[in-house]
Amino acid sequence: MSYPPYNFHMALEITNLTKQYSTQKTALNNYSITINKGILGLLGPNGAGKSTLMKLIATISKPTQGTLFLDGTDIVQHPDAIRRVLGYLPQDFGVYPNLNAYEFLEYIAAMKGVGGTGLRKRIDVLLEGVNLTADAKRPIGTYSGGMKQRIGIAQALLNDPKVLIFDEPTVGLDPEERMRFRQLIADLAQDCIIILSSHIVSDIETIADEVAIMQDGRLITKGYQQDIIKQADGQIFEIFLENNSLTEFKNRYKVIDTARQNDRIKVRYISNDAHAAPSSTAVKATLEDAYLFLTQNNA
Ligand code: ADP
Repeated sequence: MSYPPYNFHMALEITNLTKQYSTQKTALNNYSITINKGILGLLGPNGAGKSTLMKLIATISKPTQGTLFLDGTDIVQHPDAIRRVLGYLPQDFGVYPNLNAYEFLEYIAAMKGVGGTGLRKRIDVLLEGVNLTADAKRPIGTYSGGMKQRIGIAQALLNDPKVLIFDEPTVGLDPEERMRFRQLIADLAQDCIIILSSHIVSDIETIADEVAIMQDGRLITKGYQQDIIKQADGQIFEIFLENNSLTEFKNRYKVIDTARQNDRIKVRYISNDAHAAPSSTAVKATLEDAYLFLTQNNA
């Protein structure tokens, strides 16, 4: 089968996707989503089904039911249609400890069939992009967790992919490295579908254009951050409490955050407007608030 060149209308259409690992374990449950160019953040607690969804898109695993189409091509039937344009950083990314960064990327390039005269230059650019140039000649076995994660990011970009999947890419990265990662993928987002997962809201908040919130194998909501935040508007409050009343308050309300202020505690919590505690102030919702509000409502 031959495939058309990728250009403008790139879209991944996922319909009624279900993945059962066993009769007791349904990791994805009738999941439908359309993913376009740009950066989509998959946000959900551990066990929500994020990795499972990413493995299905990467064609590492097959669905129990449902379909995945990339630009009209069924990638369950024709996995090569996505594999040839895919960059994937799995969660359990393994490295070869005795190879240095150059050797490792050359090895991955060979496996992906990427070669030619530009390869050395491409590896140089990628190593620079993930800030590993100075350590490129050292065996990867001597790298820190964050450095291994960065070489994993580089290998996902080797073949100039059009669909990029990063499973928990920011694990082990410090704030400066996160910023670098963001810059690295922001340039690609014009022309690529980029999907990244995290269970940490602040990771997704700074990197993703759109956010898909998942829980228990289901899609709760998907949209631009400001539209997701709107769903929690009017539901987030702050109140000052005496120290000894916090426990009772927690029994009645879903508390998001507490901060000690002099001899009292400032408490941020979720409530519907009619039932907010007296002397509370309504506050503007953040993505974190909206995430907690939406996952609580769907629990
Ligand atoms: P997330 O990436 O959001 O943490 P996962 O997709 O890894 O979620 O897991 C979703 C659910 O499926 C979890 O309950 C997990 O324990 C289960 N699961 C994941 N992989 C397997 C597997 N290979 N066999 C059985 N259960 C699995």
